Amino acid sequence: MEHGNVIVLLGPPGAGKGTQSIVLQRELGIPAVSTGEVLRAEIAAGTPLGLKVKETIASGQLVDDDLVNQVAAAQLSQPSFTKGFVLDGYPRTVKQAGFLDRLLAALGFGEPLALHLEASTETILARLVARRQCPCCGRIYNRILRPSKDGVTCDVDSTPLIVREDDREDVILDRIRAYREQSEPVIALYTDRNYLRVDGNLQPEELFPMLSSRLTQPAPLRT
Ligand code: AMP
Repeated sequence: MEHGNVIVLLGPPGAGKGTQSIVLQRELGIPAVSTGEVLRAEIAAGTPLGLKVKETIASGQLVDDDLVNQVAAAQLSQPSFTKGFVLDGYPRTVKQAGFLDRLLAALGFGEPLALHLEASTETILARLVARRQCPCCGRIYNRILRPSKDGVTCDVDSTPLIVREDDREDVILDRIRAYREQSEPVIALYTDRNYLRVDGNLQPEELFPMLSSRLTQPAPLRT
């Protein structure tokens, strides 16, 4: 079986992980998994998993590790992921990072590239309070900094844009707290591995050219 690149996007909410993951998918021709998107789809579909995680997500807390690990394992075992993939928003705890290492080894992947998007609290807040998202293709806009052409529908598929339920200012502060307490320790697990830190305060179009040279020289992967 042929295996390819695995890119793990790390960084606080609003650092640009979702936007970069769309760019990376397009440029590298590999799929992306956002555990947040998978969980929101479960909520929208009213599945038992969705019902279980709805309140936790609305409150800005992290979903239980075992549940999220199961979501990741189910997604990444699919045939469309054998050439590599981008992970957006997973792993978010030290326990999840350990699970991911074992999962990647079991699936035959080598060391992932950990891409850490750093962003200041001011940047995060400014982006999240004005964030608008297309519920259909996942594209992310900003009401002030990067609006869609007409300000209300997606440029790609004309779907009306939505505000995420957890993009309210009080919830945003809880999400930042959860990140600092539970997800920042994950960064330390990757810094002496295949790790690249980039400035998430930059605009997406400034950021990608900086990444592309590194991405064209992937780390050797196990087959
Ligand atoms: P995101 O779309 O990545 O901002 O995630 C939205 C919300 O989904 C988070 O605030 C968490 O409640 C939940 N979530 C997504 N990914 C994870 C994860 N890896 N671990 C725990 N909770 C998660």
